[in-house]
This record gives sequence, structure tokens and C-alpha cells, in this order.
Amino acid sequence: MPLSLARVLSELSPEECEIRFSVPLAPFTSFRIGGPAAALATPRSEAALCRLLSLLDEAGVSRTVLGNGSNVLVPDGGYAGVVILTRGLHDFSISEQTITASAGAPLSALCRAATRRGIAGFSPLVGIPATLGGAIFMNAGAGGATVGERVLTVRAVPAGGGDPLVLTQGECLFGYRTSVFARRGLVILGAELTGDAADASALIEEERRVTLHRRATQPLCEPSAGSVFRRPPGDYAGRLIEAAGLKGRTVGGAQVSHLHAGFIVNTGGATAGDVKELVRIVTETVRERFGVTLEREIEYLGE
Ligand SMILES: Cc1cc2nc3c(=O)[nH]c(=O)nc-3n(C[C@H](O)[C@H](O)[C@H](O)COP(=O)(O)OP(=O)(O)OC[C@H]3O[C@@H](n4cnc5c(N)ncnc54)[C@H](O)[C@@H]3O)c2cc1C
Repeated sequence: MPLSLARVLSELSPEECEIRFSVPLAPFTSFRIGGPAAALATPRSEAALCRLLSLLDEAGVSRTVLGNGSNVLVPDGGYAGVVILTRGLHDFSISEQTITASAGAPLSALCRAATRRGIAGFSPLVGIPATLGGAIFMNAGAGGATVGERVLTVRAVPAGGGDPLVLTQGECLFGYRTSVFARRGLVILGAELTGDAADASALIEEERRVTLHRRATQPLCEPSAGSVFRRPPGDYAGRLIEAAGLKGRTVGGAQVSHLHAGFIVNTGGATAGDVKELVRIVTETVRERFGVTLEREIEYLGE
């Protein structure tokens, strides 16, 4: 560990931020893959996250943010900078139709609570294994609904540092699995969300249907990062991969899921190298067979 890194991080008190050095990242990802971070910092408040960012940026230390780690592949060699884990910022509250939440709030818990309060638009999103920050960054969605549609405002730190900004929904530039945060590297501190008033029992029934569908169609018992590829125009990556005969294709411990060809699962001991090689094979095979170039949805941490 470089001395300067320890010195920079020692500016923060343990009450503000938990700091650990040389921490394996695999347990912090849904793939259960990845080497160590030079340091893992878990701020305990939005103010502490802001201070951490400015200390790291002033010192020129590389850093990246990790929410639930369910859309990332961490390299086998790990990450040479500071990984900022937002899970310490898990609070959310609901007042009438408005939800106020910090970036590390678990999306499913937030959506379940909103659904039970009769706030529409959140029940299709239950089951996406995300923090609110990761879900806003990716504009996560399911069943025709997206997180971005529910956003009123987002509090975020600009890429170059400085005071937090409050962005309106229009300024978030939400698109299919993208946002201004993904395009410009702002760090999300928290957000306000809303939905129309609706009958809670009908929303709970929709949530139940969505959950059953997820359980029947996704390999939820095996580590994965969800859909590996973005949806190509007018088609589905999973359909193309299955039609190319790639279900069950294996590299080391990584396998194209038998249940959902859009997922790559870690059958045990998969490395990031295994997953990357399988992604390459799938991309090439689908291109050769159908002339469609699949784009990756999962992120390779640090690239
Ligand atoms: C079983 C399974 C099912 C899934 N189903 C769906 C689905 O139905 N729909 C869907 O859209 N996705 C799905 N996913 C993918 C994943 O859950 C989403 O992409 C989710 O939004 C990732 O959130 P996260 O908190 O895990 O982010 P992470 O994976 O931790 O991070 C993803 C990106 O967001 C950035 N980020 C995270 N927090 C912040 C922050 N506070 N500020 C700035 N940047 C931040 C990270 O730096 C990284 O670049 C699924 C994944 C799994 C494993």
C-alpha cells in the first residue's frame, strides 16, 4: 500500500468512514469474482462521502464507486486505488408520495416500501439487486419500468469535485441503461423519487407476479451479474445467444446459463479472465451467425 494513500485516508475519522486496506472484492460483487482493492472505504454519511471524494481527488488517488456490485466484473488483479462502498448510506424515508433516499439504499427494500404505501411504478423494479445509486447510474429497469422515470431530483458530486449539485430528472439524461452519471462520472449521493397514488393491494399483486416471473426465468441461485449484454435493437441478446447454440458454453468456472442465455454464471471458482473469454466467444459467435454486434452491459471495473 503506498504510504501516501494511508496518509490521505487517515484524514477521515472512523466515525466518518470505515477504511480497510488490501480487501478482496469478490464478496462485494454478485459474481463473487475479483482480486483486492488497495483500500475499501465505507463512508457513513453523505457528508463523509463528499469529504472522502475531495481528499482523494486533491491527492490524485484513483477511486471508483461500488454499490451492490451486481453489474460489475472486478479484475483478478483487483483495483489499485480506493473502492468507495456506498452500502453504509442505506437510509430512506417516505412522506406522502415522495421517497428520499441515500445512494446506498437497497433498491428492492425501497420499492417494496413504496408499493406498500400505494405509490405506483416501483413494483416492477422489486428484485433488481441494486443500491439506489447503482440503479440510477445504470437507469436500471424491468417489466417496462425504469428507475429514471421515478426520479424527481438527484444529489451528486461533479466529476471534477466541488460542491454537490441537485439535478432535476431532465438533467439526468436517462436513456436505455444509461444516464448523465454514467456518461460524465458524477458520484450520486442520494435522490428523491415519486409515483402516482394507487391501490396498494393491486401493486402488491403486481410485485408478486414480477417476483415469480424472475424466479422462473433467471438463475438466481448462481452468482452472476444479470444480463451481460444490452438489448440489441428489435431483439434480445438471450434469444440470439440461445439460437447460436451457446447455452451451457463454459470457460473455466464461467458458463452461459442454461436457464437464461443472457446471463453468465459463476459455477464455482470462475475468474474474471474466464468471464471475459466467454464474453469474447459469445460476441464473436453471435456476430458470425447473425451479423449482430452485442454490446456489453456489465462493466469491467477500472476500465
Ligand atoms: C440476478 C440479477 C438480476 C438483475 N436484473 C436486472 C434487471 O432486471 N434490470 C436491470 O436494469 N439490471 C439488472 N441487474 C443488473 C444490476 O442489478 C443493475 O445494473 C443495478 O443497477 C446495479 O446496481 P449496483 O448498486 O449493484 O451497482 P454496481 O454494480 O455496484 O455499480 C454499477 C455502476 O454504477 C456505478 N455506481 C454505483 N453506485 C454509484 C453512485 N452512488 N454514484 C455513481 N456511480 C455509482 C459504479 O461505479 C458502476 O460503474 C441484475 C443483476 C443480477 C445479478
